[in-house]
Amino acid sequence: MLVGKGISEGIGLGKVVILKENEIKIEKQKIKDTSAEEQLVYNAIKEVENEIEYLIQNISGTEKEIMQAYLMILQDPSLIEETIKIIEQEKCNSSYAVEIGLNKIIKTFEDMDDPYMSARSRDIEDMKKRILSKLLNIKEIDLSKLPENTILVAKELSTSDTAKINLKNISGIITEIGGVNSHMAIIARTNEIPAIVGIKHIFENIKENDYIALNGTTGEIYLNPTETEKEELKQRKEKQKQEKQELEKYKNQKAITKDGHQVELLANIGGPQDIQIVIDNTAEGVGLLRSEFLYMDAIDFPSEDEQFIAYKKIAESLENKRLVIRTLDIGGDKDLKYMKLPKEENPAMGYRAIRICLDRRDIFRTQLRALLRASAYGNIGIMYPMIISVDEVKEIKKIVESIKAELTEKGIEYGEVEQGIMIETPAAVMISDLLAEEVDFFSIGTNDLTQYTLAIDRQNSKLDNIYDSHHPAVLRMIQKTIENGHKAGCWVGICGELGADMTLTETFLKMGIDELSVSPT
Ligand code: PEP
Ligand code: MG
Repeated sequence: MLVGKGISEGIGLGKVVILKENEIKIEKQKIKDTSAEEQLVYNAIKEVENEIEYLIQNISGTEKEIMQAYLMILQDPSLIEETIKIIEQEKCNSSYAVEIGLNKIIKTFEDMDDPYMSARSRDIEDMKKRILSKLLNIKEIDLSKLPENTILVAKELSTSDTAKINLKNISGIITEIGGVNSHMAIIARTNEIPAIVGIKHIFENIKENDYIALNGTTGEIYLNPTETEKEELKQRKEKQKQEKQELEKYKNQKAITKDGHQVELLANIGGPQDIQIVIDNTAEGVGLLRSEFLYMDAIDFPSEDEQFIAYKKIAESLENKRLVIRTLDIGGDKDLKYMKLPKEENPAMGYRAIRICLDRRDIFRTQLRALLRASAYGNIGIMYPMIISVDEVKEIKKIVESIKAELTEKGIEYGEVEQGIMIETPAAVMISDLLAEEVDFFSIGTNDLTQYTLAIDRQNSKLDNIYDSHHPAVLRMIQKTIENGHKAGCWVGICGELGADMTLTETFLKMGIDELSVSPT
C-alpha cells in the first residue's frame, strides 16, 4: 500500500491512466525556405489559441482568468518576434526556433525579482510545450475523453490540464506534487473527487492500467487490491454515499443540540473562488477569510480600492451572512516576495502577522479602510491574528477608531463591524479574561495554538507524529478561552483545523463552543 496526503475526501476505485508529459526532442536543422517555417509557427500558435478559446467557453472563475492570461501570452508579439528572428538569423527549423526563442523569454521572466512575474515563466513554459507539440505533431491524451472510472495519475496537474478533464469520468486523482490549496485540490474537493498528493517516484510506483482503490480521507492507495479489499472499499464507499445522502436533509437546518444549544457552523475560505461551495453547502457564513490571497496573488500591495472591491463582492455574495475577514497574516511560512522580508532564524516566532501590521501602519490602515468601507455592504467582522497582549488590541482599536473618524469626515459610509481576535498563542489564552473585555469575539486558531503550546513547528513533517492537537494542554487552553470569553460576553469559535475534527465535537459542545468554522466541504 502507498500512503500520501489525502487532500479531497472519499473512496475511489478504477483503472489508472497516466498523464505523463511527452518527451519533446528538439534538433536543429538547416532550412532554406524560412518563410514556410515561419508560417508553421503562426499556424501552431493559432491552433493552441483556438483550443484555449474553445476551453474558455466551458469554464468560469479563476480557471477562466488563468486561461485568459494564457491567451494574452500567446497573443504577445514578442513571442512570435523572438522566434522569427531566430529562424531568419540561423536559417533553422521552426521547433528549434520556438525552443530557443521562448526559453529566452522564460529566463527573462524567471530572473525577475517580482514573484508574480517570475511565476509567469511557468505559464510560458506550458505554452511553449503546447506550441511544440503542434509543430512536432505529438498527440496528447485527450483529457475530455477519458474512460469511466479513471484514476488519473500525474506528476503534477496544471490548471490547463485540470480544466480539460471531463470530471464525470474521474474516480480519483493521485499526484506527486501539489498541496491542499493547489488549484487541482480545490477542483477535486468541489467536485467530490477523492485525491491524494505527495506520492514520491510516482511513475515507478504506479503503472498504466493498474487497478487502484484510494481513500482520499486517509491518503491510502491500494495497488491492484485483492477481491476482499475491493469489496470492503466498495462497501465503505457505498456507506459514505448513504451517509452523505442522509446529511443532505440537514443542509438548511440550524445546528442545535437536543438540549437546545446552538452552534453556528461557518466556513473557512481562502478567496472568492470558494464562495460558491460555501453557498452550496449552506454554511451560515464565513468564519475565516484568510485575506492573504489578495496579497499573495499580487505583484505589489493591493490598493485600498482593489481590496474594497474584493471584500465588498464577497460580502454581497454572502448576502447578510456573517463574513469574518482576518487581517493580513503574512510572515512565518507565508512570504510576500515584494515585501522583501529578511530571512529569520525562527520565522514562526518572528516578524509576522499583527506585528508587521502594527509596525507598517501604512499597510494596516489601507486594509482597515478597505474593510470598513466594505462593511457598508454586508455583515463583516474583522479579526486580528497572533495577538499576545492587551496593549496590541487597544492600539488596534485606536487605529480603527481614527479611520472611522476619517471616513465619517469624508462622508464615506461604513457599517457596524464586530472586532475579534484569534486565540493562537498561549499568551492570549492566559490573558483571555483581559482580552475578552476589549473585543466582541474570540476565534481559536488551533493550528498555531498547537504549534506554540507544544513547541512543535507545524511545518516540520518529521514532527507530524507528535504534533497532537488533542494534547490535554491544547484542550485545556481551548476550555479556558471559552470560559473567559463567556464571562465577558464574547462569543467563542474555533477556526483551526481542529474545529472539523468530529471526534472532538462532543468535547467542544461540553465546553460551550458557540461557533465552528471549517472547510466548506
Ligand atoms: C490557525 O492557526 O489555526 C489558523 C486558523 O490560522 P492559519 O492556519 O492561517 O495560521
Ligand atoms: Mg494561525
